[in-house]
Amino acid sequence: MPATGTFSAFPKLSEPLGLFGGTFDPVHFGHLRLAEEAVAQLGLGGVRWLPAGQPPHRGQPQVTAGQRLQMVRLATAGNPRFSVDAAEVEAAAPSYTVHTLERLRRELGPAQPLVLLVGADAFAGLSGWHRWPELFRLAHVAVSHRPGFPVEAASLPAELAGEFAARRQSDPALLQTAAAGCIVSFAMTQLAISATQIRRLLANDLSARYLLPDEVLDYIQVHSLYRNP
Ligand code: ATP
Repeated sequence: MPATGTFSAFPKLSEPLGLFGGTFDPVHFGHLRLAEEAVAQLGLGGVRWLPAGQPPHRGQPQVTAGQRLQMVRLATAGNPRFSVDAAEVEAAAPSYTVHTLERLRRELGPAQPLVLLVGADAFAGLSGWHRWPELFRLAHVAVSHRPGFPVEAASLPAELAGEFAARRQSDPALLQTAAAGCIVSFAMTQLAISATQIRRLLANDLSARYLLPDEVLDYIQVHSLYRNP
């Protein structure tokens, strides 16, 4: 069984590869179900998890990037379709998704279908991302439903709504027929879990059990993370 953290779980070239970026501060079952259901619903060969190093879109996380990376490794270990990419955490510069996609394109070649996985809340903010129009040249985008965040053009900024209307496809099988450029959405089990909620519970010395894997919760407790509001 390939170990998490290596890239030996790569799919065959024809199978789209999911790319799942996030702060994962900490990783929780909402993230894990998103990745798991994306594999099944979108026919992905695997999902490469990309914990962010220094997120450009938000304040400084409460734990180190290395600790967030370690929690993602613990959460994804044992799933042969998941691999973890530490490059953003190890980079000195801020992590912009467009740079990561350019790197992966160089690594995997022009024909490999790549699918950027994002929750509906993250997708709604996509037009604020660095060089965002280029993302569609580099990858497909798959938007998962998330409680409280509708996936519809009317709730998107105008420039993103235009791309959404032009690129949206209802058949995920089309993700295999091109390397990049489509937008699909998929309905996942709705879990109103957020890292913010987990951090708040832990800071107030309340139980976060059953919102995230026990291995991750054990790591948090051993390292005394998220104690401060
Ligand atoms: P925070 O509460 O700190 O903002 P978060 O729980 O939203 O964190 P992130 O690491 O910011 O987690 O999210 C990474 C990706 O996972 C984003 O694309 C986000 O939309 C998605 N995501 C996070 N939680 C869920 C959830 N419960 N259901 C669906 N998608 C989710």
